[in-house]
Amino acid sequence: MTEMRLDPLSGRWVVISQARSKRPDAFVLHAQRLEHEPLTPCPFCPGHEEETPPALVTYDEEGSWQVRVVPNKFPAFEGSDPFVVENRGPVFTVGSAGGIHEVLILSPDHEKSWAQLTDHQAGLVMKVMRDRMAEHATEPHLRYSQAIVNAGREAGASVEHPHGQLLGMSFVPREIAEEQARFARFTARCLLCTTIEAEESVRHRVVDSDDDVVVISPYWASVPYEMLVLPRHHSPHLHSASDNDVEAVGRALQISLTALADTIGDVAYNLVFHSAPFRMGDPFHWHVHVVPKATTRAGFEMGTGVAINIVPPEMATEELLEQLS
Ligand SMILES: [Zn+2]
Ligand SMILES: [Zn+2]
Ligand SMILES: [Zn+2]
Repeated sequence: MTEMRLDPLSGRWVVISQARSKRPDAFVLHAQRLEHEPLTPCPFCPGHEEETPPALVTYDEEGSWQVRVVPNKFPAFEGSDPFVVENRGPVFTVGSAGGIHEVLILSPDHEKSWAQLTDHQAGLVMKVMRDRMAEHATEPHLRYSQAIVNAGREAGASVEHPHGQLLGMSFVPREIAEEQARFARFTARCLLCTTIEAEESVRHRVVDSDDDVVVISPYWASVPYEMLVLPRHHSPHLHSASDNDVEAVGRALQISLTALADTIGDVAYNLVFHSAPFRMGDPFHWHVHVVPKATTRAGFEMGTGVAINIVPPEMATEELLEQLS
């Protein structure tokens, strides 16, 4: 009942173990609501715009903002220093943390997570994300931008109002460098174009698909109900993707997250948007990881880098499809 599967994107092994999900304590599921102090207004709600640093961009429709991008009050990366590494001792290596850290407020509605956005709003959020990344790409000191959405406290969110973050960085982080190496090693053709073709030919891990986008729970899913959103059109860069492609991905995320909530309830999750570094390109195919926080990462995984997934992706897909039909 147990087998090991290789994640071709990260190079990590995953143990797929169905038997373990029968343990009653196998799931730590429902997201805890993040309550803000009742007397302090939500800084991301309309009417409290002065609580955040001035917006970098707002996208208005019919006289009110629909998506806002503001600087993070506590930036992880800041300033225009290029990445310079200095050795201050045999084990004391330091680098400059230049870059940009922005918050992307998904909608004016405090209660609407990505699953509840309309197609139009989800498309708008994706276009704003793309346009901010395109802006980052023009900065000579930035090499890569990481977009993420943390939903729920277990996923790392500190403000309840649905939002994402964009971190423009002066170096290419390890996860991306590893994925680039994996694409390069997969010499036949593009690793993710091949994944789309292979998963569509066997069908049983395809959660959703249309002319522009495919959502799978990948063969190598390392957590229960993990999904991968893949635009069909091969392109290394999210920041130069077409309106059509980013809108399709926004819609596919909305559908997938709705199915996820309908299947296992209000679970915390992370969305991770991966794109090639700005001044590098093929081989890479931009994509989005949907990583539900249904279980906690325990010592074995930390110690070995080997994940144990107690819900095989075939079973997860079947359950997700039941909610979509
Ligand atoms: Zn709010
Ligand atoms: Zn491709
Ligand atoms: Zn990735």
